[in-house]
Amino acid sequence: EIRKEVSGMDPDLYVTLRCGAYACGNHDTVFDPMAALYNAKYAAEQIEEPEEEAIRFYDSAIDEERRKESFVRDHFEEALRKGEFCVYYQPIISSLSGKAEGFEALSRWIDPEKGIIPPGEYIPFLERTHKIFQLDLFMLKQVCEDLKQLRIEAGFINVNLSQDDFGVIDVPSEVEKILQEHCIDPEQIQFEVTESAIGKQSAVFREINLMHEKGYKVWVDDFGTGQSSLSILKDYSVHGIKLDQEFLKETGPSDRSHLIITQIVDLCHSMGLIVIAEGVETSEQYWFVRRAGIDLIQGFYFSRPIPLSELLKSSFAENISTAQDRDFYQPVSRIDLCGPMEPELFGPDQIQPVFAKGVVERDHERMHFLRMNTEMEQLCSPFITETRNIRELREKSELLLEMRRNIHRIQDHQGICSFRVMIGGNSFHCAIAPLTRSQDQKKETYVITLTNLTDLEWPDPEKM
Ligand code: C2E
Ligand code: CA
Ligand code: CA
Repeated sequence: EIRKEVSGMDPDLYVTLRCGAYACGNHDTVFDPMAALYNAKYAAEQIEEPEEEAIRFYDSAIDEERRKESFVRDHFEEALRKGEFCVYYQPIISSLSGKAEGFEALSRWIDPEKGIIPPGEYIPFLERTHKIFQLDLFMLKQVCEDLKQLRIEAGFINVNLSQDDFGVIDVPSEVEKILQEHCIDPEQIQFEVTESAIGKQSAVFREINLMHEKGYKVWVDDFGTGQSSLSILKDYSVHGIKLDQEFLKETGPSDRSHLIITQIVDLCHSMGLIVIAEGVETSEQYWFVRRAGIDLIQGFYFSRPIPLSELLKSSFAENISTAQDRDFYQPVSRIDLCGPMEPELFGPDQIQPVFAKGVVERDHERMHFLRMNTEMEQLCSPFITETRNIRELREKSELLLEMRRNIHRIQDHQGICSFRVMIGGNSFHCAIAPLTRSQDQKKETYVITLTNLTDLEWPDPEKM
């Protein structure tokens, strides 16, 4: 009504209206009209979409929110001085080697009375009040300190930057100053900037490209949540993307998110970018991520963010992925697992052959699958022993024996070697090609395909 009334006075005038209301007497012991007004104003300020929400009441949820906000406003700077903030580290794992490549630094506020306060309770307020740069620079300094104890020459630490930092400080020169003071090599620190931040300001654009020129690696965080995902890949010099956790939430191989992920990964790889999947919690998600060719994984499946003391004792910090590991595994994640014949090319009564494809790693006489398409999964499940991250071909299974025999043949002449194999009563054509070999010559990877030569009866796992 009010909006209409005002627009009627002057058609060029557009009014945004936010109404807040406070019901007196609910929880007040003494009536204070000024406090009541402030509360109503605060409720009004919480309306984000005034077109859709006409009025907001000051309720207990808002009251709680406000109390938390006041706590941050009143205590943040003092807490930072007193050392109540610390860095937690979450491993970023190579999806194929299973070793850590680096760690993401995540802040935690440890209040002596309240305990751990999660970032969601202070970051948004610090961003709104332009104080987040204090925390981000503190985190960077602390990470530089921690690196002296961690001693992970081959690994990196990812530090988060807020979009607000770029408006308030000169990010590239502040970063450079801190790294020089601590004698830290730029290779060891990488930065994460959210997609929404990158899309918004020209300062971010300039400074990110400048950081790239200076040799820093920048990741696009929460990729896929903003409106500018693809144009970022076009315009910015970034090292890679971190797919937003939401994409992995839906499970099931035919899901749209999975199709999108697979396409994004292919696009990124063809542009030379690396992909991290965040929020991997289950074994299904883990195997999907491998199948899609995603390079690095972060998630509770491997580890929650942990304090430095715990990290120092963990196997993650001891066994960092090396350049040789990367050379060995990277070609594996670039293999296209899809079949050579598209299903629509088959005639109506033609039987569509199964096209199973995967990549196996051979370590002496043992073999396990690093990646496999769903057909390979279905076909080989009776011959595989699955432990946490390993799908190993069972000793004495016909496929393993045949593969071993034929691999010896390939070693004489490089290239593809093919043979027939019986699996579950069906005859298959199997092809194996060598892909990579470790520097110490002890491990190799092979691409393997299986296609049926006769009509297929799927093996019944119950009977095997
Ligand atoms: P982010 O940068 O997207 O960080 C990833 C968040 O996902 C972390 O939450 C992490 O604990 C959580 N996470 C990791 N693996 C899993 C998983 O498998 N499942 C689920 N459900 N969650 C997982 P956290 O530590 O609460 O941080 C929340 C956000 O706060 C971060 O999101 C980041 O945007 C911000 N943040 C944290 N520390 C800093 C900081 O020092 N500076 C800035 N600017 N932002 C920070
Ligand atoms: Ca992040
Ligand atoms: Ca993220």
